[in-house]
Amino acid sequence: MSPFIIADFDKNLIASVVDIIEAEKTRQGNASRVATYDFDGLYALFSEEQRPSVEALFEKYMKIDPLAYGFKGEYLGIVPVPADLVTLTDQKCIIAGNEKIIPPQFIARDAYDAYVKMNEAMQAALGRPLFIESAYRSPAYQMFVLFYYLKQNDFDIAKTLKRVAMPGYSEHNYPPKQALDVMNVDGSSTDEEPFKFDETAEYQWLTENAGRFGFTMSYPKDNPKGIMYEPWHWSFDSRTVL
Ligand SMILES: [Zn+2]
Repeated sequence: MSPFIIADFDKNLIASVVDIIEAEKTRQGNASRVATYDFDGLYALFSEEQRPSVEALFEKYMKIDPLAYGFKGEYLGIVPVPADLVTLTDQKCIIAGNEKIIPPQFIARDAYDAYVKMNEAMQAALGRPLFIESAYRSPAYQMFVLFYYLKQNDFDIAKTLKRVAMPGYSEHNYPPKQALDVMNVDGSSTDEEPFKFDETAEYQWLTENAGRFGFTMSYPKDNPKGIMYEPWHWSFDSRTVL
């Protein structure tokens, strides 16, 4: 494998790309549609002078081969942003007595329909709703997420790729296998203790029932894809609906 060297010039550019996209997300407020932008839509956030170097940056980093860094997941492909994404709003958790509204999420239509049925069944069984903390992210936005964590991780690619999939490898940007990161009404999985989601009643119910609705947990413990255990990440495949 040839290691991917990040030059200082790229570090500075990545940092400013992250700042500009973050600023746009803040400007749009909670209903940030940036997560659904295609590459051209994301590039349009930059000035005419900035755009060529930003496009070159994205193109260069899209070529990172995650398999060279221990990732063993399959390449799903870069799929265009679906025109009929559903926007999910008004999800309210109660965390330590305080109401928290989850920012609007965008979901492929068939996965949304299956989620609604699954959520109704869970509510009937547990009397508790299942929320979606993250669903569709465009390939361009996934690249931004990777840049964001690269900057957070001091530009350590190997460390970053353990946590974030490359565009084209993430079920979050592959509508035929739409991934949902789920959350219960108490706000679990939490950022502090994400793995404890597997101690919740919702997790137990999902392990017994999600398959009926076409959902499977993508990354169980010690999964062969080389991805960390993610008890909150469930993906939809219409072919598996029983
Ligand atoms: Zn996920």
